[in-house]
Amino acid sequence: MNQPALPERTRQFISELQAAWVEIDRQTTAFQQSGGLSCPANCGRCCARHTVEVSMPEMLPLAADLWQRGEAEEYIAFLENNPDEKVCVFYRPQPANRELGYCSVYQIRPSLCRLFGFAGRINKYGQRQLNACEVHKQIQPEKAVANDQMPLFEQFYHRISGLDAEFDWTPLPINQALLAALKKIGFLLSFSSTSLR
Ligand code: SF4
Repeated sequence: MNQPALPERTRQFISELQAAWVEIDRQTTAFQQSGGLSCPANCGRCCARHTVEVSMPEMLPLAADLWQRGEAEEYIAFLENNPDEKVCVFYRPQPANRELGYCSVYQIRPSLCRLFGFAGRINKYGQRQLNACEVHKQIQPEKAVANDQMPLFEQFYHRISGLDAEFDWTPLPINQALLAALKKIGFLLSFSSTSLR
C-alpha cells in the first residue's frame, strides 16, 4: 500500500499491524490444518448476524486504503447517515440468503475477523479452549476442539495493542470503529500537502 502523505508514525503502525496479521494468518492456517476445522463455502453467518466489535486502530489500514482509493468520503457519508446499521458495511450477502456472502476487504480485515472461529482462550483449568462458532459446533463438532496449535486471542491483542499505547483500544461496533478510523486518517491527511492518490 502506497501512503506517501501519512505521517511516518502512522505508516509504521500500519506496517506493524499488518505484520501481526501475517502471523495470525500463519497460526490460524496451521491450526485449521492440524485439526481439519474449516468454514463451509460462502458462509457469512458471523458477518451477517453478529455485531462485530473491533477497536478504531484495527481499522486504520482499511481507512487508509479507502482514502487512497477515493472512497472514504462516500463511506463517511453513509455511516453518518446510517448510525444504526449493525451489519458490517464490507459484507456482501447473497440476495436469496443473507447468511451466505463474502467479505469485500478480506486482505485487510481486522484481527477479530481473522481469529474468530479459529482461536480461543486459556480456561480456568489452564487449558486452551476454542471459541468455536455456532456453525462449526453444528456441522464439525468433532473438529471444533482446541489443541496446542490453537492461537490465543489474548496473545495477539496484547501484541497489537502494544504497538501504540496512545491509541484508544476500546472495542466498538465495527462500523463505528471504521467511521472513527476514516476521520482519523482524514484528519492526518488534512495536514499534508500531498494526496494519497
Ligand atoms: S471486515 Fe469482512 S470479515 Fe470482518 S465483519 Fe466485515 S465483512 Fe465480515
